[in-house]
Amino acid sequence: MIASECAPVAKVGGLADVVYGLCHELEIRGHDVEIILPKYDCMRYDQVYGFWKVFDDLWVPFYNQSVHCSVFFGFVHGRKCFFIEPHSERHFFNRGIFYGHHDDPERFAFFCRAALEFMLRANKHPDIIHCHDWQTGIVPVLLFDIYKHLGMTHPRVCYTLHNLKHQGVTGEFILRETGLNRPDYYFHPDRLQDNFNRSAINLMKGGIVYSNFVTTVSPTYAWEIMHTDLSYGLGRTLQVHHRKVGGILNGIDYDVWNPETDSHIPQRYGIASPEGKYANKEALRHRLLLRQDYKPVVAYVGRLDHQKGVDLIRDGIFYSLANGCQFVLLGSSTEAGINHYFWHLKNQLNDNPGCHLEIGYNEELAHLIYAGSDMMLVPSLFEPCGLTQMIALKYGTVPVVRATGGLKDTVFDADYSHKPPQERNGYVFHDFNYRGLESAMRRAVGRWYSYPHLFRELMINGMRCDYSWNHPGQHYLNIYEYIRDR
Ligand code: ADP
Repeated sequence: MIASECAPVAKVGGLADVVYGLCHELEIRGHDVEIILPKYDCMRYDQVYGFWKVFDDLWVPFYNQSVHCSVFFGFVHGRKCFFIEPHSERHFFNRGIFYGHHDDPERFAFFCRAALEFMLRANKHPDIIHCHDWQTGIVPVLLFDIYKHLGMTHPRVCYTLHNLKHQGVTGEFILRETGLNRPDYYFHPDRLQDNFNRSAINLMKGGIVYSNFVTTVSPTYAWEIMHTDLSYGLGRTLQVHHRKVGGILNGIDYDVWNPETDSHIPQRYGIASPEGKYANKEALRHRLLLRQDYKPVVAYVGRLDHQKGVDLIRDGIFYSLANGCQFVLLGSSTEAGINHYFWHLKNQLNDNPGCHLEIGYNEELAHLIYAGSDMMLVPSLFEPCGLTQMIALKYGTVPVVRATGGLKDTVFDADYSHKPPQERNGYVFHDFNYRGLESAMRRAVGRWYSYPHLFRELMINGMRCDYSWNHPGQHYLNIYEYIRDR
């Protein structure tokens, strides 16, 4: 597994959870999995057990020179992880944040080359290399055009698309940096040339074209990226390669996200004892200085990004406060403008005893919010899979979501779903506007107040859902076997 994130040691979003959770599941099923990551200075080193240097003489080609790298090994909650540390004045991974620099494509292209160089030098020949998103899209290109000829003859590549909005569109220099060179060859619509900008290289496109199988993180998103503008220009490429493209719903790791065993929450509970949730609701209110009232708590946990529907999140806050609910938000943004906007909102609502906005990243508080809230709002513009709604379901927190991507595949409307009543688990709206949001929230809040027993049924239906890695784990294994034997 070659990735730019792995929970909890280096996590920005769902990609990190998927890398950790899938590796865990594969190991449970008896497979040997190793993860290669950059060694970031801002990693959670307290989450790595036994961190030691295993390789000190790795020289990675970079333009016409080589960069000296060290490789460290450690266990991240039992997963075997290698961390690559370049010794370069460019300080690729020593910048205090994971992403957000102008040279991100260069940083991660270097990481890809370093990961393969390490595998070659360390004599690692796995059956499958699995890479993720644009950051590692160039791995199969390097593998099949360079490393195959240096001795890595066997590996097959599975490439997973977590979000097509970010594709790693960059300049020709990336070819010189990585040693691929040959611009005449790669600047071709069937290879790495960007579909919009003909003088740019698209790293994600490279991953799609060169890998043996491409997955994305839900069946609906797989359809959306082939048939709508959610492909951000890669739809044509995906259609050309449609025979090797499939959607597999992500799982969540129930060792981490399980109210029956969660050590971050004051009161454990499960289907047999859902009322345990109310002690957590009280604790959440106590912690965030919310008034103890007979009201539902509506929550939002996630990145604050246009993709997540920032305007609808704001609308959700005001709708809740005006309609007998409390609201809790935990989120942050890499965009200064959005952060500023929510800080402003926070100041505006500061004295409201029914509202708390926590702007920042806080894993442990997230657990308490999932456990202590009644509803989880996910009003995304698009959502490749979405983990928040699946976690919310497990915690008996009823999701209120927009019908897009994985949200559509996991949440089934209490009133309108074609599923039988015992499989309905939340509220779904279609239109990406205030009226859409309101149509779902009104029904959710109405049921909480007027039909508590029916609301409780929805909670239980959600807690019963199995969105573990069990099914997706088997799907990925089927794909690995399929491409290995071809
Ligand atoms: P994305 O990958 O688009 O960020 P997902 O729903 O797939 O969204 O995954 C989000 C994950 O990150 C969930 O596990 C969620 O709990 C967590 N998360 C997001 N923002 C925060 C935050 N500010 N604090 C704690 N956890 C967060």
